[in-house]
Amino acid sequence: MAYIQFLGAAGTVTGSKHLINTGDPSGQSGFQVLVDCGLFQGPKEWRERNWSDPPVPSKKIDAVILTHAHLDHCGWIPRLVKEGFRGPIYATPPTIDLCGIILPDSGHLQEEDARFYNQTQKSKHHPALPLYTAEEAEKSLDLFKPVQVGETVTLSPELSFRFVRAAHILGSCMAEISLQMMGGTRQLLFTGDIGRVRDHKVAPGKVVHSGPNEGEIADLVVMESTYGNREHPKEDPMPELAALITATAQRGGSVIVPAFAIERTQKFIFILKNLMETGQIPRLPVYCDSPMAIKAVEIFLKHEEEYSEETLEMMRQHGTPLAWPGFTFASTPEESKRINNVRLPCVIISSSGMVTGGRILHHLAQRLPDPKNLVLFIGFQAPGTRGFTIKSKADSVKIFGDEVPIRAQVAALEQFSDHADPPELLRWLHTFKKQPANTYLVHGEPDAATQLCGLMQKELGWNVQVAQYRQKVEVE
Ligand SMILES: [Zn+2]
Repeated sequence: MAYIQFLGAAGTVTGSKHLINTGDPSGQSGFQVLVDCGLFQGPKEWRERNWSDPPVPSKKIDAVILTHAHLDHCGWIPRLVKEGFRGPIYATPPTIDLCGIILPDSGHLQEEDARFYNQTQKSKHHPALPLYTAEEAEKSLDLFKPVQVGETVTLSPELSFRFVRAAHILGSCMAEISLQMMGGTRQLLFTGDIGRVRDHKVAPGKVVHSGPNEGEIADLVVMESTYGNREHPKEDPMPELAALITATAQRGGSVIVPAFAIERTQKFIFILKNLMETGQIPRLPVYCDSPMAIKAVEIFLKHEEEYSEETLEMMRQHGTPLAWPGFTFASTPEESKRINNVRLPCVIISSSGMVTGGRILHHLAQRLPDPKNLVLFIGFQAPGTRGFTIKSKADSVKIFGDEVPIRAQVAALEQFSDHADPPELLRWLHTFKKQPANTYLVHGEPDAATQLCGLMQKELGWNVQVAQYRQKVEVE
């Protein structure tokens, strides 16, 4: 019998990996497809799962369908390939372009971490090894196959799929999967991450167009629940953002913004430009210190078809971000290090967004102890990450093995999320043309998934369950 098995993003927000096995009447394994193949991030308990083999050997998996280019959805692909996977990886052209920078970067970070831990002997494992190298990540890119939004792809006699827009980040899609079974066709919908509503006041600063595809028909839905237990603030964040930046500059401090390199960084630089041009904040130097974010800006520029009206207007007025005066894009480690010497107020945007690695670590190690500075979070912080520790205003945080005191001001603005919140999700789910027989919630901390589950049962009367790690569910 056909089944789905949740191999990640069940009970947590990272490691998205859902196996579809078409089964066959003899009880043998059928065609096997992974929808997403993400990296576990955050607490060690989850990260260690990156090292454990999935229940199905990688070489027995026939294909991967990738919803979008965030690491928690694509970051395990090089490991899958390293373990013997040789099938096609289907994704939209912008997703493939983004993976072209994200995956090798992830390999680099893992090599760097392994090297650092070996030098400092701070790992329990001797020697510490990378999960995969940049070169291995690079090699995995050969298996990617571009699929346009709306194009139907047949993977096997019993399984075909098409992408429809999820409006989460550049190139992001949901996967509508058709499964031919003995009793007829079953429609499965894997949402990946679901973007915000088409309302720029409620969801400000959107770089790509908003609103997930409406009018879906599905028998079984596997749906994200990241924001299942909280609503985004409805007020315009710009006055508070402007006040925070201005106050920091006035006391001679700098603003450090941990931001996801893809989408969030681009969104934030567009917002800063707008605030400066309209005189709401002083013209401060802005350092975008993430080679990946810089390459991502170039990919954004290539895929103009994905832009929101807001972004197009900004580009018409001010041209490409890469040429904006006062904005410095630090590509090399030397340029990054030079930012350490900047003593005058500035804004530093760097990744990773949850402070799990990357150049942001150096900036925070240097600037967290000074109360003049501001650390501004504009994205979700998963429990167990350094970002979560700092955001919860702990006394100190461990960076490079040392406890760094947190004396800087810490603030968080929640409006910049690229995930729909419960009212937005309900609004979208109400557009479904048919009530799915089964819905499984993934990609949420237990409390978020449970609360959204209850809300959907109450408001929609749907049959909803929270997916469990490694749980197998039959496609009926
Ligand atoms: Zn995502």
